[in-house]
This record gives sequence, structure tokens and C-alpha cells, in this order.
Amino acid sequence: MTPLEDAQAFVLESCPPREPVMLAREEAGGLVLAEVVVSTELVPPFDNTAVDGYAVRSEDVANVPAELDVIYEIAAGAAPQADLGPGQAVRIMTGAPLPGGADAVVMVEYSERLGEIERNGVMFERVRLGESVRPGTAIRRAGDDVLVGEELFEPGTIITPAIEGVLASVNAQHVKVYPRLRVAVLSTGDELITDGSPLAPGQIRESNKTMLAGMLAEAGCDVVDLGVVRDDEAELERVLRSAAADCDAIVSSGGVSMGDYDVVKAVLGRIADMTWMQMAIKPAKPFAFGMLDGVPVFGLPGNPVSSMVSFELMARPALRRMMGHRQLARPSIVAIVDHDLIRNADGKVHFMRVNGSFQEDGRYHVAPVGAQGSHQLAATANADAMAVVPDGGGVVAGGEVAVLLLR
Ligand code: AMP
Ligand code: MG
Repeated sequence: MTPLEDAQAFVLESCPPREPVMLAREEAGGLVLAEVVVSTELVPPFDNTAVDGYAVRSEDVANVPAELDVIYEIAAGAAPQADLGPGQAVRIMTGAPLPGGADAVVMVEYSERLGEIERNGVMFERVRLGESVRPGTAIRRAGDDVLVGEELFEPGTIITPAIEGVLASVNAQHVKVYPRLRVAVLSTGDELITDGSPLAPGQIRESNKTMLAGMLAEAGCDVVDLGVVRDDEAELERVLRSAAADCDAIVSSGGVSMGDYDVVKAVLGRIADMTWMQMAIKPAKPFAFGMLDGVPVFGLPGNPVSSMVSFELMARPALRRMMGHRQLARPSIVAIVDHDLIRNADGKVHFMRVNGSFQEDGRYHVAPVGAQGSHQLAATANADAMAVVPDGGGVVAGGEVAVLLLR
């Protein structure tokens, strides 16, 4: 049996990051940056007010209340009409540019409109301000969020919605990213039914392709659903070859173990450069990986829980690496075992599916989801995490175990 770490290292080695591409910002959400983003613009682009109120010379409100002339009003989106002189104020709205001459803003809450007065035949609007402000009060300086030339995001950064917002704020229209992968997924087996019809003797309903398509989408891949392929070598070869021509990776389930009808094994063994593994883990011992016309092929076992676990441990990290991710595995923490995780010694690491939650002691506590058979997907579907139980008799309640957080 191959230790899991060796199998993982072998697969990752064969799945380097893809060639980066320039993409429009709107298409780059969720992808990984391939080069540093350097801002060519200031954010904010000009000094502006953080509050609604009156732009003033702070010396004019050193003694309050102070009465000033309101020379005009300025809203966000408008440009200042004139600089401020002594004894003058400008009524200003949040986000509007600060007029020249002003060095602070008094909040509207500390103002009282006094109406108009006449002076030398000219009407002046007057305001009474009740608060002294220091220079700079309520002013957002040009560039105090982002400077020109500032390195904003490193290569390897995942483009989150907030980062998309920042890219928009600095007018980054295109970004260099690792492209989204297009991944083909298929199931194999004469017994599998997908159309909702009544089950004939020996038939079962297909579940893996449905699950794997969702897991691929969740991993950030575009999914090409190739459906269920019968246990027919010619048909399987045709489907696999067209997938290799059209996709960046192929994920299949079923047919990789030792049975007579394991046609995936027969066909890929003939047309691709494959490595057939028996990994020292449970579930998901059989696993195949190789290259078909330069395209990575992940041959997952057919038992649904094995399919899920080998996708998690083998396919997902490799696909993430191809998409430029630096963090490949699920986050791992040491958890407290609340109910015994019993197993037998068999030379394998067991990935037991557990339910977990953070408790008041600040620790993550886990208990097995119940049924741990490799065909019992319903129990596994309730798991939040997988406990990594080393070879031996298991971990009793109160002990510690490493877990991989699936959500
Ligand atoms: P195989 O790996 O093809 O020998 O299949 C192992 C077990 O998993 C058998 O019981 C299959 O019926 C079952 N199985 C294989 N593929 C699927 C699938 N796509 N959905 C549900 N069960 C499957
Ligand atoms: Mg089969």
C-alpha cells in the first residue's frame, strides 16, 4: 500500500499551476491572482468630507459659537466653486471635495441656520457653528486608502468580492489570474440509473456524479457533465478521448478496482499513462491517476463515500494547485473526541466522518456521524469534518484527534 502523503506528492507534482491569463475583472471573482496588483490611481482621488456639515477654516471656529457666511453649497459629485476666505463656510455633503482654504469640517449636528442678512446691499446666508474643530477634522485625505504605486494584492491572493471592489476603485479593468479549470466528470457502471425510472433488479440510482459535479463547482471549477458511461470499453474510450480534447482535467468514478468489469482500468490502462494505487487509507483505498493526451485523469473508486473521500484528499488539492491556489488542503485542527472513534489496526489511516462544533472551552469537539461504511453516503453527508485516525485501536472519548474541516 502507498502512504497517502506519497500518493498526494506524486499527483501534485503532475498538476502544476496552469499558464496565467488576463481576464476582465468581472470574470475574475474566485480566481487566484498571478501577479501583484499595483494601483495607478489615488483612493480617494481628492480630499473630501467624511460628514455632512460646514467646511471651515479651523481658526474661524476657535471660539464658539461662531457665526460665518455660507458662500455656497456643495454635494458629492460637484466641484468647489471658490476658495474659502476668513469668516466664510461652505455647506458640504459627505463625499464632496473640500474647497480650497478649508482645513476642517464641522458636523451639521453642531450648526444652526440663521437665514440671510444684508451687508452693503448684498445678501449673505449665515450659520452659527457650536463646535471647535482641529485642522483635519472630518477630512478624508486623497490617497489615504490607496496610493499611486501601492502594491495592493500579492500573487496567490484569491479574488474575493471585497477585492473585486478594490480593483474597481483603482480602475483595474483586467487582472492576470490562473484560469478557471474546465473539468469533465463521469460515472461508470451498467447498474446506474439517472432518469428516475423504476429500478429493475440489480439497478441502483446514480449518486457520485451528482455529488462530484457539486464538489467540483464548489472547488471553483467549470463542470462538464459527461453522464453515466456503460461498462463498455469502446464507448468509454470515445468519451474519455473527447473529454481530454475538450477539458483541463477528467474525474471519473467507478471501475478502478480489481473486478472483471472494471472497464475504466482496462481502457485507461491502454490509452493513458496511468498509475494504479492502493493507498494506505480507509475509505478510498483504490485510486488511479494519470495523463491522457496531457490531461490529468483522476480515477476515483465507485463506492460513494470512497469517491467523496478520494476527491477530497487527491483530486481537490491537485485541481486547486492547477488553479494557482497556495493553500491546497482543507484546514486542519486538533479536536477533542466526545464519543469514541473505534477502529481496527490494519496498516491504514482511517478518515472517519465526524460532526463537529466549537464549544465554550474554545475547542472543536467531534463525534462520529454513525455509519462509516463506504457505501453509506447518507451518514457521511451529515459530516462537517473528517477525523484523521492513525493506525491502531482508535481514539477514546476525551482524547485528541486531527480533523480536516470540510465546511
Ligand atoms: P466499482 O468501483 O465500479 O466497482 O463500484 C463499487 C460500488 O460502488 C458498487 O457497489 C457500485 O454499484 C457503486 N457505484 C459505482 N458508481 C456509482 C455511482 N456513480 N453512484 C452510486 N454508486 C456507484
Ligand atoms: Mg463499476
